[in-house]
Amino acid sequence: MDKQAQANTLHCDLLVVGSGAGGLATAVTAARLGLKVVVAEKEAEFGGTTAWSGGWLWVPRNPLAIAAGIEEDPAQPRQYLHSELGEDFDAALADAYLSHAPRMVDFFQRHSLLRFIDGNLIPDFHGHSAGAATGGRSVCAAPFDGRLLGAHIHSLKKPLDVISLWGMGIASGVELRHFLNASRSLTSFAYVTRRVLAYWRDCLLHGRGMRLVNGNALAAALGASALQTGVELRLSSPVHQLLREQDKVSGALLDTPDGPLTVVAKRGVVLACGGFPHDVARKRQLLTHAPTGQEHWSAAPASNTGDGLRLGETVGGVMGEMESPMALAPVSLVPRADGSTAHFPHLIERAKPGLIAVTANGQRFCNEADSYHDFVSALLRATPAGQLAEAWLLADHRFVRRYGLGAVKPAPMPLGRWLRSGYLQRGNTLQELARRCGINPVALEQQVARYNQQAAAGQDNDFAKGDTPYNRVQGDKDNAWPNPCMAPLQHGPFYAVKIVPGSLGSFAGLATNASAQVLDEQDQPIAGLYAVGNDMHSMMGGHYPSGGITLGPAMTFGYLAAHHAAGRQPDANV
Ligand SMILES: Cc1cc2nc3c(=O)[nH]c(=O)nc-3n(C[C@H](O)[C@H](O)[C@H](O)COP(=O)(O)OP(=O)(O)OC[C@H]3O[C@@H](n4cnc5c(N)ncnc54)[C@H](O)[C@@H]3O)c2cc1C
Repeated sequence: MDKQAQANTLHCDLLVVGSGAGGLATAVTAARLGLKVVVAEKEAEFGGTTAWSGGWLWVPRNPLAIAAGIEEDPAQPRQYLHSELGEDFDAALADAYLSHAPRMVDFFQRHSLLRFIDGNLIPDFHGHSAGAATGGRSVCAAPFDGRLLGAHIHSLKKPLDVISLWGMGIASGVELRHFLNASRSLTSFAYVTRRVLAYWRDCLLHGRGMRLVNGNALAAALGASALQTGVELRLSSPVHQLLREQDKVSGALLDTPDGPLTVVAKRGVVLACGGFPHDVARKRQLLTHAPTGQEHWSAAPASNTGDGLRLGETVGGVMGEMESPMALAPVSLVPRADGSTAHFPHLIERAKPGLIAVTANGQRFCNEADSYHDFVSALLRATPAGQLAEAWLLADHRFVRRYGLGAVKPAPMPLGRWLRSGYLQRGNTLQELARRCGINPVALEQQVARYNQQAAAGQDNDFAKGDTPYNRVQGDKDNAWPNPCMAPLQHGPFYAVKIVPGSLGSFAGLATNASAQVLDEQDQPIAGLYAVGNDMHSMMGGHYPSGGITLGPAMTFGYLAAHHAAGRQPDANV
């Protein structure tokens, strides 16, 4: 340890490394249980990937569902996890999750500034699996008033620019529907006008929007709660070394804007650095589709470079193993005006009627309305060994103006900038578009003709698009054709956006027990060391059964880690 770090020492009970949902949920819980907590964040802003996310949590039997009269037998979600995870089902982790996640939601509603709204109509991804539900298993962070953060609002990571409108987050559900319908319904137009005017007023008065939604609301509510409970939040302070006393992790070394700092933490250290979506070496090692580590374009922030995993390994932690180490999502590469490239995750428009995805051979390879993880898994399976995985999302003019395509917003937003940058490709005919993209033109015409016939009949005989409740909810119930996820691609010009494999974050992480204690090679807990969020090996074992399966466990195991560190039972009253 250098002399300056030795001289600058801070004492606390618990040091949390990283300020996303995993880290902040741990910090808020620990502080409410009476611990003195320090959160160290590498970036100048707090919130991590969480602040860019949808803010959804998968929590079967949650208090909001129960209040709405949806009462499930506990065996149902357990059966669903079992059927989805198969051999990767870990009973200890699954049971801890299913019993404590509803308590976690209740805890935050009662003891923090975070409030949830229900997702009672949101189905699990795989409606045909045993135990799947058509709703009642999701909650989302409620909109949050940024003014409650005071001056700290300026330290909150802003929503990801390319999925926002001029920097304004749009809440999923009803609000998003209003934005998509703004040029077709007076009510929606009025709603959008009010939202946009309020946003610009906030920008003038406060320098940014104050009505925070989705993951931005989640990060803000957790950050405000942490500050309110006395948590010390240290920004621009990456942790680069763990300290040990005998066999126990006892603190860490930080770089801070004022120089090196030693944090001594009596109850230990919690790793919450958001996994390894931008750790080139680890991606090269674990991702077969990224042989140099570069061929994977995660939508998570660039600061998530696998630090937590490396720190854990230096004191004997081990990485768990799984077949699919990433929470996969199709991503398009969006050129920004400043020369940088944004990674746009395609989470919404693929299920809308009138879009197909094809590879260079001009053929579809999957049910486009399935989850982002399933979509990329199918693309990887369809890509011949040794070739770069890539595909095109393809639609006609009506579709692009109605729903948008990737970063391209629907009407009345203009298309010119996207066409000029080459992000959006256009052809007056399918053949012309195919040549521009390097797609086999004859095969594409045949594919579209076949698809159009099936769309008119409402039946996807090739990939069963529209067959599951999840597909249909993601589609458009007002579609004029019989299947809410299908419509013929009829009138040019036609458009395409190229997509590549990316992710919302990583799944593979440090092996832990059900209290989120990091385990060593002998499966023994390393005293004083916890891993939560995407630093914890996902209890889903590389599977993606439903939306919200990263934030739900991130907050629940954070809540459990804090109780363990405080020596308290999770269900004891606070
Ligand atoms: C567009 C998008 C939508 C999503 N929607 C959802 C959703 O609705 N539901 C869901 O479950 N999941 C969703 N996800 C995934 C989810 O956001 C992440 O899995 C989750 O936020 C990870 O939380 P975390 O706490 O592990 O990490 P993060 O939120 O990424 O936080 C990690 C923090 O650690 C910091 N850090 C890194 N290294 C260090 C270091 N050495 N020292 C100090 N700090 C460090 C980072 O800067 C970062 O701020 C979405 C992701 C994206 C990109």
